[in-house]
Amino acid sequence: MEELLRRSEKLTTVGQLAAGVAHEIRNPLTTLRGFLQIQQQTGTLNVKHVDLMLSELDRINLIVGEFLILAKPQAVQFQRTDIRCILEDVISLLDSQAHLCGVEFHIQVTNQPTAVFCAENQLKQVFINLLKNAIEAMPNGGRISIELCLYEENVKIVIKDEGTGMSPEVMAKLGEPFFTKKDAGTGLGLMVSQRIIQSHKGLLDMESIEGEGTTVTILLPWAACAKDAGTAGEAGGGLQNG
Ligand code: ADP
Ligand code: MG
Repeated sequence: MEELLRRSEKLTTVGQLAAGVAHEIRNPLTTLRGFLQIQQQTGTLNVKHVDLMLSELDRINLIVGEFLILAKPQAVQFQRTDIRCILEDVISLLDSQAHLCGVEFHIQVTNQPTAVFCAENQLKQVFINLLKNAIEAMPNGGRISIELCLYEENVKIVIKDEGTGMSPEVMAKLGEPFFTKKDAGTGLGLMVSQRIIQSHKGLLDMESIEGEGTTVTILLPWAACAKDAGTAGEAGGGLQNG
């Protein structure tokens, strides 16, 4: 956990992010330029070229989209919201994707209210990122267990998968922007999630055993004891905290 935190603090300064984005976007742009040159010189582009151009454009869009979440901290409204509702929304959103992959969700919740002061959409984004990673780590299906409870003065969310897990080498790189082991990955999901949880004055911890699975633990200040935690702007998230 400390490793993940330290890395994200070290690497997510505005300048490094900007350099990373520029680099990641330049590759698909170079491809696009190349194809347009072919079109200019030969007057023809085949279907394959056009497909590639579209997928390169999609990639740029994906990268820019992930950054937009980080780029608009000021407008964020923090409201008292029960994490249980957020989790249930996200699970129903991902249910069909999970089902297709042979993955089933198993949810265990406490009866106590688990409200936090939060930007609901940002936390949704975090759970989407984490649950997608869990699904993607289980190509042959399996179970994702999600536990929601109170822990000291926090709401605790534990997401556990039975997926591929990660080696210590991979763990050491988590939270680094653009670090991905996936063909169609952006390597931004964890970094964005980490930033959002930090901006909510929470903690995000990952543990993993290669070949066995991964456990993500999130702590967020419980709204019942956080007096005015996270009024808009003050804890509004984004790059200024880095
Ligand atoms: P992306 O999903 O686009 O690759 P992320 O930041 O979400 O980017 O994740 C970075 C990398 O961390 C992934 O490519 C994967 O190798 C690893 N990872 C993240 N979550 C898990 C998980 N639950 N199980 C196994 N590996 C994971
Ligand atoms: Mg991901």
